[in-house]
Amino acid sequence: HLINSEDTALRQRALRVVPSGMWGHLHAAKLPEGYPQFFARGEGAHLWDVDGHRYLDFMCSWGPNLLGHQNQEVEEAAERQRRMGDCLNGPAPVMVELAERLVETLPAAAWAMFQKNGTDATTTCATLARAATGRRKLLVARGAYHGAVPWCSPSLVGVTSEDRAHLVHYRFNDLDSLAQAVAEAGDDLAGIIASAFRHDLAQDQELPSPAFARAVRDACDAKGAALILDEVRAGFRLHAGGSWETLGVRPDLSAWSKAIGNGYPISAVTGAEWLREAASRLFVTGSFWCGAVPMAAALATLGVVLRDDVPGQLARLGQRLRDGLAAGAQRHGIALRQSGPPQMPLVLFDDDIGSRKGDAFCVAMLAHGVYFHPRHNMFLSAAHTEADIDTALAAAEHGFAAVASL
Ligand code: PMP
Repeated sequence: HLINSEDTALRQRALRVVPSGMWGHLHAAKLPEGYPQFFARGEGAHLWDVDGHRYLDFMCSWGPNLLGHQNQEVEEAAERQRRMGDCLNGPAPVMVELAERLVETLPAAAWAMFQKNGTDATTTCATLARAATGRRKLLVARGAYHGAVPWCSPSLVGVTSEDRAHLVHYRFNDLDSLAQAVAEAGDDLAGIIASAFRHDLAQDQELPSPAFARAVRDACDAKGAALILDEVRAGFRLHAGGSWETLGVRPDLSAWSKAIGNGYPISAVTGAEWLREAASRLFVTGSFWCGAVPMAAALATLGVVLRDDVPGQLARLGQRLRDGLAAGAQRHGIALRQSGPPQMPLVLFDDDIGSRKGDAFCVAMLAHGVYFHPRHNMFLSAAHTEADIDTALAAAEHGFAAVASL
């Protein structure tokens, strides 16, 4: 077992001044015992906790670190902008450069607007779909995560039914349920929001079927509603031109965040021409939405993504990890499920009531210096190497042994 005395001391201090010591998805209480809550630093594909343990990181800050922690090109671009200013009385020129770059890169985008968090972007998309259509209903896939405010939070704590009065649910990849929801919304359909792929917590991931993506597009076209693609988690890991490009289906609005600034706080909404006028009428803003440093970081990140085909790199690394884990599980006689795009690995065990197997697997890997998540999809970065994948596979041997001995 790892010695976590500094982490324990910080948690105790936090308990006195922060409700339950931490909030939200990064609360370590949601992870098996032994996982650190506090981190000292990150570099490339590695993280150090406050007790000095080094981990090969497969969460990448839950997505944002696409090129690895402290990527030099991104840090230099951010530093250059920081010397000139970050939070000014209006945007720096880099806002225009970044919007131009996104519009050039994304075939579905005619314009871009910037915010801070993924929730800002998905909420702006929902508001904009309503503003543009003058209608109210928003179709949302049951179980999908689009953020942490009352209209979409997975928690009902503090949420009123009125906050969700105009949501209609459908099942991802299910054409019948989509058709039913469209019929239920009737003439009041403002938009349909879909994740780039299905990545609900602790469930097998599902790529959209071409028929489903087409049906969402057709329904929006038939009703004059907006197809909103939530790219917050998948963006720039699946495809640099947009995650549904390979399906030949283009969204009207896309919400981006996480990876676009390689860890700097920035999100974006990109949209089609027909939504430009409504977007210009909308009042959405925030004190820090014009921050120039995250925009410079995003511009540099996007440059590297395109130059180095980062989605392709991550797909190859992810396949190496997936193949190695599948072979390891088979050697140990363990039934493993890996689903979704290899760039965003999810490892689940069959018959795993209460996540006992997943927890034992991940705790053993953590003890061998590899930070995996037992239930949530993980993230690869361009800082991972084939040697790192092999290091993770060596640690997984200990994980499989732990599962086999349960
Ligand atoms: N949409 C998706 C698909 C996400 O994964 C997330 C974050 N996990 C969000 C929206 C919300 O993003 P944020 O936490 O930056 O508000």
